Amino acid sequence: MAMSPLDEIRHSSSHVLATAVLRLFPEAKLDIGPPTDSGFYYDFDLDHKFTTEDLTRIEAEMKKVIDENQPFKRTEVPRAEAVEIIKKIGQERYKLGRLADIPEGEAISFYQNGDFIDLCAGTHVRYTKQIKAFKLLSIAGAYHRGDEKNKQLQRIYGTAFASKDELAQYLDRMEQAKLRDHRKLGKELKLFVIDDDVGQGLVLWTPAGSVIRQELQNFISEELRKQGYSQVFTPHIGKLALYKTSGHFPYYKESQFTPIIDPDQLAQIAKEGCTCAEMTARLDAVSESFRQEINRRSGREAIPVERTKADETLLDGFLLKPMNCPHHIKIFASQPHSYRDLPVRLAEFGTVYRWEQSGELNGMTRVRGFTQDDAHLFCTEEQVGAEVLGCLSLVKIVLSTLGMSDYRVRVGLRDPDSKKYTGDSANWDKAEAACREAAKTLGVPFTEEPGEAAFYGPKIDFVIKDVIGREWQLGTVQVDYNLPVRFDLSYSGADNQPHRPVMIHRAPFGSMERFCGVLIEHFAGDFPVWLAPEQVRLVPISEKTLDYGRNLLAQLKAAGVRASLDEHNDKLGAKIRRSEVEKVPYTLVLGGKEAEAQSVSVRSRAKGDEGVLPFAQYLERLKAEIATRALPEKAQKPATGSQK
Ligand SMILES: [Zn+2]
Ligand SMILES: [Zn+2]
Repeated sequence: MAMSPLDEIRHSSSHVLATAVLRLFPEAKLDIGPPTDSGFYYDFDLDHKFTTEDLTRIEAEMKKVIDENQPFKRTEVPRAEAVEIIKKIGQERYKLGRLADIPEGEAISFYQNGDFIDLCAGTHVRYTKQIKAFKLLSIAGAYHRGDEKNKQLQRIYGTAFASKDELAQYLDRMEQAKLRDHRKLGKELKLFVIDDDVGQGLVLWTPAGSVIRQELQNFISEELRKQGYSQVFTPHIGKLALYKTSGHFPYYKESQFTPIIDPDQLAQIAKEGCTCAEMTARLDAVSESFRQEINRRSGREAIPVERTKADETLLDGFLLKPMNCPHHIKIFASQPHSYRDLPVRLAEFGTVYRWEQSGELNGMTRVRGFTQDDAHLFCTEEQVGAEVLGCLSLVKIVLSTLGMSDYRVRVGLRDPDSKKYTGDSANWDKAEAACREAAKTLGVPFTEEPGEAAFYGPKIDFVIKDVIGREWQLGTVQVDYNLPVRFDLSYSGADNQPHRPVMIHRAPFGSMERFCGVLIEHFAGDFPVWLAPEQVRLVPISEKTLDYGRNLLAQLKAAGVRASLDEHNDKLGAKIRRSEVEKVPYTLVLGGKEAEAQSVSVRSRAKGDEGVLPFAQYLERLKAEIATRALPEKAQKPATGSQK
């Protein structure tokens, strides 16, 4: 099958890479070199360890190969002949195995450019000169066939584009992404810490980072109040039985921390000599009456008979909560509801814990403990559409305030041919129509993705694009017909009969950890004034204006502004530089003239030198900027190509 023109350029680059490597390191053994989403790589087996200097040499050799303008020639051969060719070029070590992967009856082809010949299905550009813009990027270890039991090979990564401009733009974006990396900025700006003694994947919010999170939470909470949400608080653990009712345990056990067993029970089973395997089985099991009750509610065999055990052998424990839903359900169920009370909207910045493999952990964006901007809405079926729309409009307000107006939504629908979904199809039709209508009303691009629904209902995901064009998936809105059944929830309708409410789960920003991580990268650490941990830095020119500085500091603090006074004995330039490195939005320089006139010399990170302003006037302007949650002017403009 023919590759796309860009993939052909990239795949041809990988052949040229192998050509150059063999010229410089004839003993290298080749594995494979496919194109990727963002470039290409080739895997080599070689005793010599590639260095960055080698990359420069290899790149220069690749340029020669390109200048030689070698044609790519395809030949198809029978299998026996293919073996001969591989032996002749001395590449038996991996290529014979790769040849064996090609199913009987499928064409076996080689591509040749100059002296270099490679087992390859293709396709390629016609001449090496058609590779107009490429760059080698890095060296990494990669196991043969991705299996750590196999030998580790050396992978050289590179990228290639159709034009030099596109390559320059890509490299510039990579550079910007590196500078914006939230792990790097988080350390430099002291926003968060991850400490091995506390545990990987567990974020410690430092004072500066906590300011950002608190401001965001305040902002979101304000919007939630306007939308009629009620704030609740719930504990970090819950009994195992709760999650057996919801179905979160043991079905999602691999992504949860092991249950906590209460000390008395633990002492008892230790005395009985219970093994870990027995203990796990006793924790997973349910009683026959529990099973029957859940199955009765579900109207199907939700829990199979194999999961039951005799009552006296059952163990209960607590789970670090993987989800907030069951706790919120219990709050809803604690009182009778009439249709007049609905919708009930319960919101909590609820901390949950998930067991992620350590290799998956990444700064603030993949963690083991995180706080969701969670809420659960309990409503009638007729209300689903309006409630989903309300969730979407909240997202719209928050994202536009943060200058993230470029986003799209994905509507996950059921796969019409699959039987894995719960609930009847009439309800599904209604819920899907509601999600679709809400997405339409939002006025942003959306795609419908059949098969992407949760098993209990359709969902809407948000994918935002940041200032350098990268996409981030945030949270979701999910319509759920299943949990109200499992927990036997009801409200009394206008007909005085019990009815089943519909539940909506929504955590539009996913988690505070992930969202703040994304924001750090989005703003490159240059937060708008309302979010900045330190909003104003006062810099006296000399000791003579220190008192004036103290006076202004008191006024700023009284106005609720996060400000500090630089009392160091450094030169003015050093103080200004420090404020800049720490990305403080405003630096106010205080000289003798300013002190006399009760004015300040304003340096803004967004706008540069703003000249001298009366302090009172500056303070009013600042207060308005904070109150309106204004964006720094820079952040409002989308990035435009390379900035050289
Ligand atoms: Zn190839
Ligand atoms: Zn939920």
